[in-house]
Amino acid sequence: MNLFQTRGCCFCPIASGSSGNATYVEADGDGILIDCACSGKKIEQALSELGTSIRNVRGIFITHGHHDHYGSIGVLARRHKIPIYANAPTWQRIRDDNTSGRHVTGKIDPDLIQVTDTLFTGPTVTLGALTITSFPVPHDCPGAVGYRVRLGGRTAVVMTDLGYIPRELEDEVLGASVILLESNHDTQMLRNGPYPGYLKNRILSNSGHLSNDAAGLFAVKLARGGTGRIYLGHLSKVNNTPGQALATVSRHLIDARITPNRDVELLVAQREILSAPTRW
Ligand SMILES: [Zn+2]
Ligand SMILES: [Zn+2]
Repeated sequence: MNLFQTRGCCFCPIASGSSGNATYVEADGDGILIDCACSGKKIEQALSELGTSIRNVRGIFITHGHHDHYGSIGVLARRHKIPIYANAPTWQRIRDDNTSGRHVTGKIDPDLIQVTDTLFTGPTVTLGALTITSFPVPHDCPGAVGYRVRLGGRTAVVMTDLGYIPRELEDEVLGASVILLESNHDTQMLRNGPYPGYLKNRILSNSGHLSNDAAGLFAVKLARGGTGRIYLGHLSKVNNTPGQALATVSRHLIDARITPNRDVELLVAQREILSAPTRW
């Protein structure tokens, strides 16, 4: 399968959900990963399916220090000498993570670690034709950010793991050509589901995760702002289904007289396999 010519632009979720997240963006042979929590081998395979290569990855950008976002960082940095970009609180959590009895990162060449001192936002970096900027998101992890990637006049956004969408954040994101937008849970499924009360409250809080309804309301704004494709991502395995997320977000779009897949493309980012790439 060769879904993507090396000379061109690509945006593609590789994995999305609480078991692991990774998104690939490439323009003219210069690529970046946003998060990298599936095995290094799986990421290499996914890139080769896209018709590109791990050798084209110029940087790994981490959104925050929750485990489902950085699992293969050490392997990728060591094996392929890929620089890591994160802000200080995020890097501190990753560096200190030894939950399995040993440090997740292992030994990484310090020259590969690009950490900013800015507390709440990460770096703005230009790699090849791509300009990458982070923006803070309300989530229960210090330093949590989303990323905006610019290529000429076009923008791609990754925005998952946030409890709500503050006004100033809307301004950062509206007008994006393509977005990976969190649609974590169906609120009724979560309320009636098996999670303990404290966890339900955490997910529902302003620093938790976006519901399908919240994603739907924002999808309307995105579509009106000219966004061409929305991937719904970071779906809960327990409190959501791809069908439920699509149905709820579609209902909000239709209520606003926007026709899904005519006025804006709507799809779910696959949990464990490569999603359909966007030529961007
Ligand atoms: Zn997450
Ligand atoms: Zn998180």
